[in-house]
Amino acid sequence: MLLLIDAPTLEDPVTAPGFHRVDPGAPHLRVDDLGASRGDGVFETIGVLAGRALQLEPHLDRLARSAALLDLPAPRLDVWRAAVLAAIGAAGGGDLAVKLVLTRGVEGTDQATGWALASQMPDMRQARELGVRVVTLDRGYAADVAVTSPWLLQGAKYTSYAVNMAALREARRRGADDAIFLSSDGYVLEGPTATVVLRTGDTLITPATDQGILAGTTQAEVFACGAARGLATEFRPVPAAELARAEHVWLCSSIRLAAPVRSIDGRELTVDSELTATFGDYLAQGG
Ligand code: PLP
Repeated sequence: MLLLIDAPTLEDPVTAPGFHRVDPGAPHLRVDDLGASRGDGVFETIGVLAGRALQLEPHLDRLARSAALLDLPAPRLDVWRAAVLAAIGAAGGGDLAVKLVLTRGVEGTDQATGWALASQMPDMRQARELGVRVVTLDRGYAADVAVTSPWLLQGAKYTSYAVNMAALREARRRGADDAIFLSSDGYVLEGPTATVVLRTGDTLITPATDQGILAGTTQAEVFACGAARGLATEFRPVPAAELARAEHVWLCSSIRLAAPVRSIDGRELTVDSELTATFGDYLAQGG
């Protein structure tokens, strides 16, 4: 189900704020939209289970943060929130993925383009239960890239995901399911579409988000779940060597939830099925 957002940002002259429902199979995007021609836009993907949007507010907040990083006008979050709920309703509820996209709009118009698209959630049981095989890939940037070179937009969820998709293809060429990016100076960053969480003893660890990586909404819930069960939680730089010896690792993201990692660069890891199921239940209930 596709909803076009009529006036997606605050700066737009808003006469009739809102959105309208259109046929997702019909053409809607102009070929000179900068989102299409330059990948110049931001997006969010929200998981929906049994008709309930998971972590809706953190996703909307991150959409606004990504827009600010790209110097896009602020999205009208009230309209976007209503569009998500309407898209879920129009799709009939159930398990969905709702994608929100805000682009710089048609070249030369200063009018952003926005839409919300609800699709069936793909079947993720295998990754959630059996886990994923991962290879590490060098992202080619130092861990302080967000500070030294903010124009590289690391840490924004922007529509130019061709590099992330290329990394997934490279992982598959190497016989794995997914990748974990390392910085050029040897720190663990994130997956192309997921946040990395490690467990060492009674502590959950995730790479600090000031290293040009996305602040994960799923990882935040995994930490909340862990903390409620007495685990300590840490955001900090994680040297690649620590990942190379880690026993329990998860890739966390809105649709796949907390997928246990069962191998890294060919080394087998132990899947903590109990904790994985605990995370899964917690995430499925919306925290
Ligand atoms: N890191 C990157 C690069 C991502 O693209 C995503 C999600 O797509 C995540 C992390 C996980 O974020 P979330 O848990 O909010 O889906």
